[in-house]
Amino acid sequence: MAQRPGFPLKLEKASPAPRTLKTNAPVKSIVQSEVRAAPAPVQNLGMDSSAVRQRMVQKLAAQGLQDPLVLQAMGTVERHRFVESALVAQAYEDTSLPIGLGQTISKPNVVARMIELLREGVDGKLGRVLEIGTGCGYQAAVLSHVATEVYSIERLKGLHEKARANLRHFRLANVHLLFGDGMLGYPKGAPYAAIISAAGGDSVPQAWLDQLAVGGRLVAPTVTATGQQALMVVNKTPQGFKQNVLEAVHFVPLKSGVS
Ligand code: SAH
Repeated sequence: MAQRPGFPLKLEKASPAPRTLKTNAPVKSIVQSEVRAAPAPVQNLGMDSSAVRQRMVQKLAAQGLQDPLVLQAMGTVERHRFVESALVAQAYEDTSLPIGLGQTISKPNVVARMIELLREGVDGKLGRVLEIGTGCGYQAAVLSHVATEVYSIERLKGLHEKARANLRHFRLANVHLLFGDGMLGYPKGAPYAAIISAAGGDSVPQAWLDQLAVGGRLVAPTVTATGQQALMVVNKTPQGFKQNVLEAVHFVPLKSGVS
């Protein structure tokens, strides 16, 4: 991977995995709740102008983000539609924000960075992607622009419902919201071209490794040997798993079970 300004060095370097396997086939039979079109909630607070998002994209580019497809997606998805009205003014700042039930929407830089890592070395869109931790649905919406299918699973019923309400406006036919324990992955949709976790665990669950396609990649915040949380990138190659530990991050904890 080329070094990019603004990010700490990798601790370990592995050769890029071949990314050949296509997991593009839609899995309609496993869908529990698809996002359907409905009238848009009106949010007329000056945030509807694409200029605010373009400014955010320029900042992301200045921070070292460079994948055109990811930057385009970040410039397209209206982040202000995913946050409480009291926080709308901060929607395009590079900050994480509360989304209820003690959870947070990741800051734009981290969302873009993780998706860029997922897409590294991939020509065109990613195939089928599994996201663990739907939260408010923002990252799922961004993913929908860079992947053919997005399966996003959330363990808190309240947030699963909130994400469904938030995403309705966008009519994203390739986003499928699931309610369940994402630590178990979602075997019916496997294998996945990419798996991304928005919650940090002590290790990468075996289910995720099992459900990743050969040639696929997983990005997840994970506690490392030093006790700090860092971004973990795992490539599943024909020869086995190759793991890289990248920069320190601060994500909400990965928890088991549903609530
Ligand atoms: N991608 C989200 C970020 C949400 S924060 C967004 O754009 O808003 C992380 C989310 O992970 C929280 O909503 C939390 O409830 C969820 N989570 C934690 N452990 C989980 C698990 N085992 N399965 C599914 N979701 C989980």
